[in-house]
Amino acid sequence: MSEFVRPVARDGVAAMEGYHSAQMNVDVRLNTNESPVSPPEAFRSAVVAAVADVSWNRYPDRLATALRTALAEAHGVIPTQVFAANGSNEALQSLQLAYGGPGRSAAVFEPTYAMYAQIARTTGTGVLRGTRDDDHRLVADEVLALVADEEPALVFLCSPNNPTGTVDPVGLVADVVDVAARYGGLVVVDEAYGQFASTSAVDLLAEDRPLVVSRTFSKTWAMAGARLGYLLAPTWCVAELNKVVLPYHLDAFKQVVGILALQHRAAMDDRVAQLVAERNRVAAALDVLPVTAWPSEANFILFRPDTRSGGDVWRALVDRSVLVRDFTTMVGIEGCLRVTIGTTDENDRFIEALGQILGGSLAETLHEPDTEGD
Ligand code: PMP
Repeated sequence: MSEFVRPVARDGVAAMEGYHSAQMNVDVRLNTNESPVSPPEAFRSAVVAAVADVSWNRYPDRLATALRTALAEAHGVIPTQVFAANGSNEALQSLQLAYGGPGRSAAVFEPTYAMYAQIARTTGTGVLRGTRDDDHRLVADEVLALVADEEPALVFLCSPNNPTGTVDPVGLVADVVDVAARYGGLVVVDEAYGQFASTSAVDLLAEDRPLVVSRTFSKTWAMAGARLGYLLAPTWCVAELNKVVLPYHLDAFKQVVGILALQHRAAMDDRVAQLVAERNRVAAALDVLPVTAWPSEANFILFRPDTRSGGDVWRALVDRSVLVRDFTTMVGIEGCLRVTIGTTDENDRFIEALGQILGGSLAETLHEPDTEGD
């Protein structure tokens, strides 16, 4: 070809870096808030049996009726108040496709889950950035003033918040919803880690309230590989989301897998209880090390080493085959690392390695990791 002008992606996309979390070959992977173990054996056997009956040649139920009915029963809502998607990320994207876009904005309170702002860019939605206090809690006056003054089309709250583990008081969520209701804003509470927490906004859901709560099978349900999430919302909201999502977006296998998972809830609840107990054990261990750690109601803990830089500690952990998430350059939590709660053995490996690194000589030689952190 004699001439080639390479097409440039539209503004806002071309300059983006994309979401990435280091994928490295280590023994102890505590960087992406996954479940440390596979789903229960009984559930996996049920999936294998059920998959034999899925019809390959037909498109799946476009509205995932059986799955949404099962989810509705689990949460005490009706099926038309449930929207299921390929991971809660797709649910969050669908919200921005329907309610965001050019000329509209989404409010986020940083540091928080980076995908809200990232999806805003890909959907042409403006971003209004609020802050948090030193302990990463929302500041009620600031949140309410920002929403009332700027009237964002969408307000993203994340409870427990990733990466800080902070929960939002339900009373404050209700107040934000009241303000948004006055001008036509929609408040989204991302509860990806909701099962690990003591509070939830689910009880606030109502047809005459502009509130959405999103959840995922990726964490508690140990199904990050299956990519299944959902949100609970008023029927009028779910109806709009069904317009922007691609036809048959949820494949037949995934629909079956989701229904079966809900039948193994007791086993999943046990896992949550175990992870919460492990989280408290890791928090207690961090308490006696020279780090600042924040209270978390999720399956991870954010901490900042007091005596060495976060970057050095991250690399020293990788050298010991322990991978945590590097947030050292994120505004508001500079120097911080986030550890996902793993199995008892994995957590022990992490605590032991961190103890060695922080207790060891400062002159310890640090090797460069194989791959860059994010
Ligand atoms: N929300 C939050 C706060 C998350 O941390 C994540 C996963 N990192 C998601 C949503 C998306 O999860 P998924 O798409 O796997 O459901």
